[in-house]
Amino acid sequence: MLTPEAALSLVTESVRPLSPRRFPRHEALGLMSAEPIRADRNYPPFPRAMMDGYAVRVADAGRTIPVVGEIAAGRQIEAVTGEGTCIEIMTGGCCPPGTEAVVQKEHVRREESNVALPAEISPGQHIAPPASECCEGEEVLPSGTIISPLAVAAMATFGIEIVTAIPRPSIAIITTGSELAAVGVKPSPVQIRDSNGPMLAALAAERGIDISFSMTVPDRLEDVLTAVATSTDKDLVLIAGGVSVGTYDFVPRALKEYGAEIVFHRVAQKPGKPLLMARKDNQILFGLPGNPLGCHLGFHRYVAAAIYLMGGKPLSPTYTGRVIQLIRPKSGRTHFIPAQAFWQDGDWSLQPLPGVSSADVFHASKANSYLHIPPSCEDIAEGGVVEFSLFRD
Ligand code: AMP
Ligand code: MG
Repeated sequence: MLTPEAALSLVTESVRPLSPRRFPRHEALGLMSAEPIRADRNYPPFPRAMMDGYAVRVADAGRTIPVVGEIAAGRQIEAVTGEGTCIEIMTGGCCPPGTEAVVQKEHVRREESNVALPAEISPGQHIAPPASECCEGEEVLPSGTIISPLAVAAMATFGIEIVTAIPRPSIAIITTGSELAAVGVKPSPVQIRDSNGPMLAALAAERGIDISFSMTVPDRLEDVLTAVATSTDKDLVLIAGGVSVGTYDFVPRALKEYGAEIVFHRVAQKPGKPLLMARKDNQILFGLPGNPLGCHLGFHRYVAAAIYLMGGKPLSPTYTGRVIQLIRPKSGRTHFIPAQAFWQDGDWSLQPLPGVSSADVFHASKANSYLHIPPSCEDIAEGGVVEFSLFRD
């Protein structure tokens, strides 16, 4: 059976970044830019006062001189800083011609219309010269930058309202199982509520993706096939349940009838062994285990990777930390154990939260990470080092 490492490699080999599109600046947050951001003007565009104070000549250090004008931020006045006079100026104001330094308000003694200047004034102090931060035409952010709030500030500074960036993938969520009742409908004694649909939508929402198509279908080949065929316009299709070997597990067959090529099916991992990945043209389809933790791990490790790669972004890193409780691995497969990771004394401490079964989401809902326990691993004593991945970056 495929190892989790080999399965992740197949995801990375199969998934291509989506084609860049143009986005209004406010919609581009968190996307990977696909064009450089350039300055449309020098910055600062004028010699900018960095402090509230006085625009002066250096030769006037130690003298008491008259204040002959005032410049507020955003105001232009006809004035020159000549020797023997100074001009009061506010932070963000444009220093008048002749200004050699700005002396902080707190460092002068004001006596009516005169100020006594300090004995030492350095040339250029508290002035940001034009173009000192960047020059007109300069590349401020290269193509391939994740658009952060500071990148948004850079774009706004240079009047950029539209940016070319790689979109997030569109996702369809299909849950299948004749035992599933929608949340809000009273389940019969042999039904359970669909928790995978809401969980997958929440996992997508954490990555900035709204789900525009989701449905629950019974375990019937035609219904699974119809649901998949209705999702042809989506970049990613997630089908939870029905991917194992049960008589009514129709997902592998439905995907073949849909015309998708199965990239892999079954991974030597616990939970989530029945995981399937398929591809049709540029569309990627995942058959996720119905078992809620297997479904969660399938998203966390493989679907999330596909989302990042489609968005042109790097995969999330893994870390190492020390377990604070003995672990007795039972599985011949790689075991992903839900855990609470916390930063303590300069290291990650890891509290395993194994739960009573691999379907137990209640223990796992206190977790923020998965421990990666290799197959045939001996007991890991308290303080032992293990690899782990965080649910969120
Ligand atoms: P399956 O992968 O369809 O064999 O399902 C494995 C287990 O997960 C079964 O106990 C299902 O009842 C349960 N299950 C499947 N789909 C869901 C779902 N959407 N929400 C909650 N549990 C589910
Ligand atoms: Mg089922």
